[in-house]
Amino acid sequence: MSDGIKAAPALKEKLKKLGLSRCDDLVLHLPLRYEDETRCFSIADAPWGEPVQVEAQVVDVSVQYRPRRQLVARVREMEASGAENVLTLRFLNFYGSQTKQLETARDNGQVLRLFGEIRQGFLGPEMVHPRYRVVDPGAPLPGALTPVYPTTAGVSQAALRKVIAGCLAEADLSEFFAAAWREHFGLSGFAEAVHYLHAPPPGAPLGALQSRDHPAWRRIKFDEVLAQQLSLRRAFLARRERGAPVLESSGELAKRLRAVLPFALTGAQQRVVAEIDHDLAQPHPMQRLLQGDVGSGKTIVGALAACRAIEAGWQVAFMAPTEILAEQHYLKLKAWLEPLGIRVAWLSGSLKAAAKKAMQLEAATGAQLVVGTHALIQDAVDFARLGLAIVDEQHRFGVQQRLALRQKGGDAASGAIPHQLMMSATPIPRTLAMSYYADLDVSVLDELPPGRTPVRTKLVADARRDEVTERVRVAVAEGRQAYWVCPLIEESEKLQLQTALDTHAALSEELEGLRVGLVHGRLKADEKAATMAAFAAGDIDVLVATTVIEVGVDVPNASLMVIEHAERFGLSQLHQLRGRVGRGAHESVCVLLYAGPLSETARARLKIIFENTDGFEIARQDLHLRGPGEFIGSRQSGVPLLRYADLEADADLIELARAEAERLLAADHAAVERHLARWLGSREALLKA
Ligand code: ADP
Ligand code: MG
Repeated sequence: MSDGIKAAPALKEKLKKLGLSRCDDLVLHLPLRYEDETRCFSIADAPWGEPVQVEAQVVDVSVQYRPRRQLVARVREMEASGAENVLTLRFLNFYGSQTKQLETARDNGQVLRLFGEIRQGFLGPEMVHPRYRVVDPGAPLPGALTPVYPTTAGVSQAALRKVIAGCLAEADLSEFFAAAWREHFGLSGFAEAVHYLHAPPPGAPLGALQSRDHPAWRRIKFDEVLAQQLSLRRAFLARRERGAPVLESSGELAKRLRAVLPFALTGAQQRVVAEIDHDLAQPHPMQRLLQGDVGSGKTIVGALAACRAIEAGWQVAFMAPTEILAEQHYLKLKAWLEPLGIRVAWLSGSLKAAAKKAMQLEAATGAQLVVGTHALIQDAVDFARLGLAIVDEQHRFGVQQRLALRQKGGDAASGAIPHQLMMSATPIPRTLAMSYYADLDVSVLDELPPGRTPVRTKLVADARRDEVTERVRVAVAEGRQAYWVCPLIEESEKLQLQTALDTHAALSEELEGLRVGLVHGRLKADEKAATMAAFAAGDIDVLVATTVIEVGVDVPNASLMVIEHAERFGLSQLHQLRGRVGRGAHESVCVLLYAGPLSETARARLKIIFENTDGFEIARQDLHLRGPGEFIGSRQSGVPLLRYADLEADADLIELARAEAERLLAADHAAVERHLARWLGSREALLKA
């Protein structure tokens, strides 16, 4: 089938590399900016310092050698009054053919149409590296602004312009929104929008085009977000269709667990537990994301959900992204649930083969709750009756792992799949949640358990490291414990490990008499577990650690956290690390050691973490600082980034698109298909993870 693109095969290949393989793609390949070649200035009137177009005749061409080899031409424009305006052209890189061309133009009195910025030069006004071509006198000016497209080597702007113009004529630009509705929300028609953006008429408002506030841009951004919402919501609805076991129970087991807890649930926890209970009793799978800041108490919410499922006679899988965290969950859940008569199993990737086999069998048949890392989904565990899967720190799992989990435990006969509870301590701003998690229901724990004293954060320059080790000493003397987080070295795992070993050695010396432990990613699982257990039991005073302790680790007696080279860490990482302290009744301190001089962004990041303790606020500012792409990472979210819409600035469009997506999914399947094909083409599969 023809793709409708009118271009030579070699060019098509290159376009493909840009992700442009269909006419629809090219229509949506929109300009970065424009150049205005629709009018010519007189040299005397042209504004300086911004791109302008002028016409003039060549009077003089020479190659000069001072200060370096360059081609210099003088051009002249005659005004009707007889006045002469002269302009110098300067080319620092040039070909011999260019010299010839200009000389020919000079000899024949040809007119050059020049595009560039006029500046004050040594000999009066000059243009450096203008774009130019020879034109016949009185040649017509273009009827539209000239688009400048994102491109790569080997695909010229001229080639792109031509191909895109062809595609605009070829593609189906049909509309399915009523004009009155669109106008109400300040959105152009689709065909109108793309024609306008690829070729704005002379005098078009460049400001609104640049800031993308123009109705044409709003339409494109709306459509982009709509495609995202449609795709995610459709996947959500499709999973919902699958059916899930109805986990009905009296709530007796959960009640017994709550009765033995040393604390009462917060209001937020109670609310979320009720939301989950409601979902579990439905005949379609729960697809819920539980967001709650570090320390907001997500684990117990998961445990209570597990109680429901277990009481209803089903198995529960509880997954965590790291061995350390999985094991800690295992110990905690076992302590909570075994006294209630529940069989809890532990499955990790690093168990010895025989033990693993035994555990797999236990998981498959006997255990009611199985805790583990992604080994749970990757290994050959065949759950007999998996009713609920709980995924802690879900953002740490890759797309593939999340997909695998979704397929796990499905009942082939009925097509039913387990309920899913995802938990995340990376709080994300509302617009981002709406946009990226449109395929999930979201619950938020927006309240911390009472009695927490906020962690005090201190920024300390590297030079004062001695004072910090002294502080560690004091904390330990007072019966507390401390974490010492090693510098992050992203480029090299080996270096990272070496740094951890060095830091451990140095601190063991500096803190003589204290028990200094070390945990890092390269330790064997049982060594890691033993170290963590010793720290939890108070047998280690200072735990030197890499970021393996970043998520979930919960040792309430640890009240001091030192992070070396804090400037190298991301904001959410710092927030997570800081969340390891402040979990007990003692006042906790987080010391961020930094090495100057700090870059502007490093300074901004440290300022945010210093000034804020609320994870949502930190996330909001982080988003602002970095933009959503880096913030969420397309690999993690599995959602291609939005190219045009801006999650912060276009929040209104996201709300609108969300509502419109629901309506279209219910009422107009043809429109949904057409829209998704236009925007996503083959990329839609990516969104389903
Ligand atoms: P996170 O949301 O970061 O996973 P955890 O579930 O690890 O938080 O809970 C942090 C700590 O708070 C744990 O020690 C937990 O037992 C405790 N906790 C949870 N809920 C409450 C509550 N309602 N009141 C007091 N402490 C609580
Ligand atoms: Mg947790």
